[in-house]
Amino acid sequence: MVGAGPTGLTAATYLARFRRRVLVLDGGPSRADWIPKSHNTPGFPQGIGGPELITRLRSQAQSHGATIQPGRVETLRASPQGFRLEGDFARVDALTVLLATGVVDHLPAIEGLPAAILSGRVRMCPICDGYEAIDRRLAVLGEDDLVQREADFLRTYSPDITILRLGPAGGAAPAEATCVALEQLEIEPDAVVLRKPGEAARRFDHLYLALGCSAQAQLAVAAGARQDELGNLLVDAHQATTVDGLYAAGDVVRGLNQIAVGAGEAAIAATAIHNRLRSTV
Ligand SMILES: Cc1cc2nc3c(=O)[nH]c(=O)nc-3n(C[C@H](O)[C@H](O)[C@H](O)COP(=O)(O)OP(=O)(O)OC[C@H]3O[C@@H](n4cnc5c(N)ncnc54)[C@H](O)[C@@H]3O)c2cc1C
Repeated sequence: MVGAGPTGLTAATYLARFRRRVLVLDGGPSRADWIPKSHNTPGFPQGIGGPELITRLRSQAQSHGATIQPGRVETLRASPQGFRLEGDFARVDALTVLLATGVVDHLPAIEGLPAAILSGRVRMCPICDGYEAIDRRLAVLGEDDLVQREADFLRTYSPDITILRLGPAGGAAPAEATCVALEQLEIEPDAVVLRKPGEAARRFDHLYLALGCSAQAQLAVAAGARQDELGNLLVDAHQATTVDGLYAAGDVVRGLNQIAVGAGEAAIAATAIHNRLRSTV
């Protein structure tokens, strides 16, 4: 397993319960570590923080015998036995590999951004937490069609939405949007504030980022796997990539970037891997 986010850890639990030898290579923080409190993760009606969820998923996988080891995979290639993975952990040989390496969010250079994401003032996922923004003053920051789509999605929750299009200070924007430069946005304890020269300051309860993300698909691509036009890994109904024996699940593949989706794909991939190995070992 490459990646110790919700997807990799769920797959580890399934495979360990199929009595497979499972190694999870953990290359660092999960995207879920940004989540202040998730209210749409199944089974947690009061919500659960991302780090707490990761702790529980790690413990569940380990309790069934999975090994979780720090390690960033730098190369992955097919070998006579299956695959050879190399990185800062030296070398690992595996019969099959599941990539659950997630995405990297494109973040703007706004002072205080990490703390504002962790507090929920700045948000990245209307599907995740739009419900917690009902009737709030919202701004959506982006550059292309995505910003309009995200703003439209948020209209289910609030009538008070301002589209902020990134551009040079003083630049023009379409009538329905405001053109902003990043230095005009300030994060305060109780609001995100837009200060444009010659205009009254505008305060927003939440700033949604609509700047996209990049799939961490490089390892699979170098091994020969195909991507879609957005860079997500292409997989079949069993989560198999176009490279024999290499599977992928979660945010790194095409589909909805959600914990529940990653967990479902992990279950499918783990079962496919187990069934594949049953015919040989
Ligand atoms: C602010 C925020 C709030 C969110 N809220 C919610 C929510 O409420 N509900 C919800 O369903 N979803 C939410 N999400 C989305 C959710 O976090 C992701 O869908 C989920 O984390 C994806 O899990 P994953 O395991 O596929 O990828 P990740 O969680 O990103 O894990 C990927 C793992 O792969 C590792 N990795 C990457 N490359 C390598 C490598 N070369 N070698 C080794 N390891 C590597 C990373 O270090 C990481 O451990 C939110 C996201 C954000 C940013």
